[in-house]
Amino acid sequence: MPQYKAPQNDFTFLLRDWLDIDSHYKALNVDGFDFDLVSEIINQGAKFAEEVVAPLNREGDEQGCRLVDGNVSTPDGFSQAYQEYIANGWNAMLGSPEYDGQDLPYSAAVPIHEMLNSANLSWRLTTMLTESAVLAVSKHATEELKQQYLAKLISGEWTGTMNLTEPHAGTDLALLSTKAEPLEDGAYAITGNKIFITGGDQDWTSNIIHLVLARLPDAPKGVKGISLFLVPKMLIDGTGEPAEKNNLSVGSIEKKMGIKASPTCVMNYDGAKGWLVGEPHNGLACMFTMMNDARFQVGLQGLGTCEASFQGALAYARERLQSRAPQGIQAPQSKADPILGQPDVRKMLLTQKAFTEGCRALSLLYAQQMDVEKYGTDDEQQNAKKVIAFLTPICKGFMTDIAMEVTNLGIQIYGGHGYVREWGMEQLVRDTRIAQLYEGTNGIQAADLIGRKLTRDNGQMLNATMALFKSRIKNISHSQDREKAVSLLNCWQQDSMALLGGKPEDLAGVATDYMYYSAYVILGILWLEMANCAEKMEHKALALGKRKTCDFYINRLLGRKDVHRHVLVVSAEDLLSVADDEFDYS
Ligand SMILES: Cc1cc2nc3c(=O)[nH]c(=O)nc-3n(C[C@H](O)[C@H](O)[C@H](O)COP(=O)(O)OP(=O)(O)OC[C@H]3O[C@@H](n4cnc5c(N)ncnc54)[C@H](O)[C@@H]3O)c2cc1C
Repeated sequence: MPQYKAPQNDFTFLLRDWLDIDSHYKALNVDGFDFDLVSEIINQGAKFAEEVVAPLNREGDEQGCRLVDGNVSTPDGFSQAYQEYIANGWNAMLGSPEYDGQDLPYSAAVPIHEMLNSANLSWRLTTMLTESAVLAVSKHATEELKQQYLAKLISGEWTGTMNLTEPHAGTDLALLSTKAEPLEDGAYAITGNKIFITGGDQDWTSNIIHLVLARLPDAPKGVKGISLFLVPKMLIDGTGEPAEKNNLSVGSIEKKMGIKASPTCVMNYDGAKGWLVGEPHNGLACMFTMMNDARFQVGLQGLGTCEASFQGALAYARERLQSRAPQGIQAPQSKADPILGQPDVRKMLLTQKAFTEGCRALSLLYAQQMDVEKYGTDDEQQNAKKVIAFLTPICKGFMTDIAMEVTNLGIQIYGGHGYVREWGMEQLVRDTRIAQLYEGTNGIQAADLIGRKLTRDNGQMLNATMALFKSRIKNISHSQDREKAVSLLNCWQQDSMALLGGKPEDLAGVATDYMYYSAYVILGILWLEMANCAEKMEHKALALGKRKTCDFYINRLLGRKDVHRHVLVVSAEDLLSVADDEFDYS
């Protein structure tokens, strides 16, 4: 597989020209930040992703993780790369300055996250969850816990994990049964089994901070009886350093389809000492601080693998000589033409390119809204919160589903060579598959979008999102493109409003269709905007590439929205009327 190369020209186009990040920072009074600084951060991040993390990806997949005497051993080079990562301050990008974080705007960090995902998804996962854990501890933990744990999580001296899942409690956390018994000193004894815990153990750091959902003795049944606890692998002494092993252990590590270099652990808590984070019985809300961030970050995993697959497929299509192109001989000096000359191969490559760059635009627009939520006026913050809430399930669900299509196309373009391990294309498919499942399956993302985000508060989140796109459409200079974008938006808005008040089972039956419909429309609007904006670019190939990819998206991919749009009015009767014994005829 060709060496991963960070898409820096696209970051420059999107941040400097399309989002006009300089004006954005100025409007939000983000001191000392401008495109030049962000560009320098991206340059350095690109070097780290390309030279340190990407070269470990293939071997990490081959070696996987091992459990040796109860401790996880990660593949060669993983720990060294992590030490370099934290020494250079990458882990602290988003942390609060009060705890030695760098407090960067989200828009400066998201390109780094994308590049790390492209370079090595398994390696990135543990750092991603630590960043999300920092958010939950920052927002909900007591001052004492923050003083003890936050600076070390932000620097990366210690990592963080998220412990929700139990064997009988996956999507439905109301079923979880891990117990938390109060101790005399104000702490709690945590007892129970968690499964599928990413980074449950590793050989990178001297401590691991587990955020664990459990039930207090007097807890009401269901999700209203769940509390959140901070449970360190090593209990710390008076100086704040790891001293004594807590009563927890790794039962096993899962053998799985992909992300083999990420340790997915069965965790046993046997009266482990933990401390309450947030109010009793309010743990799920606290955990959602972590999960919402992680959901967007998982969307970025999809984007990362799309980019890596597209790069590999494009390089291969330029070199692989097979057949003659139907439009005429392309390489007369060779016995055959590069497969890049084949219209069908071009269609696959353009599909990869259209989704990858479209999703990148969406991810940076989301990041811009995260900046507004952080630095804006009260009203701006409230508005950005609504947009973020609406877009989160779309970013997670669509960007990871589409990554399966894009990475599969990567295999297809390589032919049989894509199916064998040598080229790395099959690893991308295996690695990206999990992103459709964890942090809430994509079915749950769709249900969240239609059942909560759309319908709650009479469509306020939808309206805030529509207003954002309406304002962006004004930037489209060609009237034909502008009218197309307006018509897409108006139609989507009307169809969305028509769903308000729908029966829960009908909404659940079309949830995934609504998520796809929304995403295809959003990408259509973003592509029209990008193609217009690119015309001003000096980089002519990039400008023409954007216009032609926009045309390709509008002509050949946007039509998919109609398949999903047409079923929005279908009741769930056809799904629910199938009797149990009518599913099979055995
Ligand atoms: C590699 C890996 C890493 C993971 N990392 C972590 C981690 O770090 N921490 C952690 O806590 N968990 C982690 N998980 C667990 C992951 O989040 C769960 O697997 C996921 O939430 C789904 O739960 P489940 O597997 O029990 O599936 P189930 O909940 O049994 O779902 C099965 C199917 O039913 C559907 N379904 C269930 N309920 C509904 C509903 N209400 N509406 C519509 N459809 C529904 C689902 O969409 C899915 O298609 C990880 C899993 C894996 C495989």
